[in-house]
Amino acid sequence: MTYQLPSQQEFSARVLDWYDANARALPWRSLPGQRPDPYHVWLSEIMLQQTTVVTVGPYFDKFLTLWPTVQHMAAAPLDDILTVWAGLGYYARARNLHKCAIDICDKFAGTFPNNREDLLTLPGIGPYTAAAISSIAFDRAEVVVDGNIERIIARLFRIDTALPAAKKPITEYAAHLTPCGRPGDYAQALMDIGATICTPRNPKCAQCPVSVTCTAFAEGDMERYPVKAPKKAKPTRRGVIFWIEAEGGVVLLRRREEKGLLGGMMEFPSSPWQEAAIAPDAALEQLRESAGLNINGPMIHKTLVRHTFTHFHLELQPVVLVMAQKANLSLPGSSWVRPEEFENYALPTLMKKVVTSVQSPQTDFL
Ligand code: SF4
Repeated sequence: MTYQLPSQQEFSARVLDWYDANARALPWRSLPGQRPDPYHVWLSEIMLQQTTVVTVGPYFDKFLTLWPTVQHMAAAPLDDILTVWAGLGYYARARNLHKCAIDICDKFAGTFPNNREDLLTLPGIGPYTAAAISSIAFDRAEVVVDGNIERIIARLFRIDTALPAAKKPITEYAAHLTPCGRPGDYAQALMDIGATICTPRNPKCAQCPVSVTCTAFAEGDMERYPVKAPKKAKPTRRGVIFWIEAEGGVVLLRRREEKGLLGGMMEFPSSPWQEAAIAPDAALEQLRESAGLNINGPMIHKTLVRHTFTHFHLELQPVVLVMAQKANLSLPGSSWVRPEEFENYALPTLMKKVVTSVQSPQTDFL
């Protein structure tokens, strides 16, 4: 069977008519036909990378309450931003958010640039985000392709090339369909159709405004698309993590290095995370040397903590150690903190799992 490309005009008219009647109400959205605040669009687009709308909603509201403008965010300490971001994951986004706010104030007089080229010079803004901000906030006819739009296009044209190689033909088809009129609403409409109708499983094709032009629907093999390359198995890394408690119930936290995984976030001291398991005794010896800590005493093992990052699984064995006195430390960025005050520190989800494990009654005295 051969298919014809739908005309841009006909396709975008269907999409925009649907949007006018069905647009999702989202905190960072304006009504169809109206332009939203670029600061809101930027903040939401950064938060929505790798994160669902439902999760992002409360974070977005809290950020806007604390930092209602880009100037407020630029003036905030990075640590405050990391603390409020805690739980959203992919922490490089929070560091770049702060750098980007500062750059917008320093280099663009506090006004968001409206074009893709200038947006691409800012920290944390890649080709997708630049196109999305330019399109949604400034109504410029950029080709916006997020995961939802990728799925719709792959199905409309039954693109057999597997992702990520399929990104190129998908973007070419998307460019063919993107209209000059209301491109911001068009992009948001496709995002909504992808999120609510053209879902990964059981797409609701009967409600879809573009089903008449969808080749996967015509063939009945919608869920075959987008074709994905087989996933590589993730390795498992392991480590020992120490909950070191001293007089007054304070617990030792340290700051991770600025760059890399969980960069700049707070953590409990741990051994390196590696595929070969390390015994708690050996991990403690390493910590004594690196931190200049003279720690002794019984080690209490708590329930293993499991966490998955993009490229590996992690298993951490929490070990509790109680010291008679607070020691002087040579651990950079370390502090003694009462557990009731953890919420004021930038603890990522992984470390919150460690807190839960340590505070659960299950123990193993060694
Ligand atoms: Fe997706 Fe079905 Fe619409 Fe095709 S018809 S775009 S598969 S929802």
